[in-house]
Amino acid sequence: MFGMNMGGGGGGGGGMPFGAGGMGGMPGMGGMGGGRGGPRKGRNEEQEYEVSLEELYKGKTTRFASTKNVVCATCKGSGGKEKAKPHQCSTCNGKGVVVGLRSVGPGLVTQESAPCSTCRGKGTIYKDKDRCRKCKGNRTVEQKKVLELYIPPGSREGDKIVLAGEADQQPDQEPGDLVFELKEEEHEVFKRAGADLVADCDISLVESLAGFERVVVKHLDGRGISICHPRGKVLRPGQILKVPGEGMPIKRSEAKGDLYLVVKIDFPKDGWLGDDTKEQRLRELLPKPKLNDALKTDTVDECDFGDGDLEDFGAGSGDPRATEWEDEDEEGGEAPQCATQ
Ligand SMILES: [Zn+2]
Ligand SMILES: [Zn+2]
Repeated sequence: MFGMNMGGGGGGGGGMPFGAGGMGGMPGMGGMGGGRGGPRKGRNEEQEYEVSLEELYKGKTTRFASTKNVVCATCKGSGGKEKAKPHQCSTCNGKGVVVGLRSVGPGLVTQESAPCSTCRGKGTIYKDKDRCRKCKGNRTVEQKKVLELYIPPGSREGDKIVLAGEADQQPDQEPGDLVFELKEEEHEVFKRAGADLVADCDISLVESLAGFERVVVKHLDGRGISICHPRGKVLRPGQILKVPGEGMPIKRSEAKGDLYLVVKIDFPKDGWLGDDTKEQRLRELLPKPKLNDALKTDTVDECDFGDGDLEDFGAGSGDPRATEWEDEDEEGGEAPQCATQ
């Protein structure tokens, strides 16, 4: 009834080896109603396909060997030898379907018709000696085929790549499609939302104060992304830098999303300052601390302190404000080593 509603409208079954994108217009899964002879179009076969962010950025073509059932060429799907005549299937009395009872709950059964397994929905069957030698009366044979899967640059998690008509064949039925649903693997450096990417921009304290020009991130295609932060401008922790056009490609266009860089400053380790002369020079170089009038008090208590964790703030109190403070600042790696012992 329906043809393929996909753009371009290549006629006939063999056209358009694959399409990409949503399931729009694919007749697909519908119609398992099981009328006489089964559905007009076979069932789609769906499976997940994991792809790295690099592959989604650059696009990817893979070939893989697939085994599927195809209509037997020797008997053209009849299941019998050339001059042999089939007889009526006694299981289904030639109807091709059998009505069975299926339990749908405790004490509840429903009548359901299913294709007859004896004659595989055909209604007729061949005697052993009349069966096609190639398919042994099964009407289909297994065939290996090399398929090509093309993932366009900019594809997203959940996108479906459709290999039209590549699912198992059944006689008298249009074969369903092989459908690959993309799963995006997590990436170490980049996170993605739509066509935009975000990554950390790790710089040192001196770079944050004095500027720099260098590669700050290696992109998904291997390019170094260099930025120039001029002297006279200060970069602060958590500051966001936007690099236009360095996000993911946008499918079927020349455009790209944007790259967001989150400034992370690698502060020096404890003890880096060394002797007094260095400290003196640093104090001279950097702006003097401002005296805050609001902190002028009559009495001053000198207090001890240690490292804290805001997860402990209000913990167990039942006060909803306790969780407002949760921070995700879990920097692994080279945390400053505090020799507090
Ligand atoms: Zn055959
Ligand atoms: Zn039957």
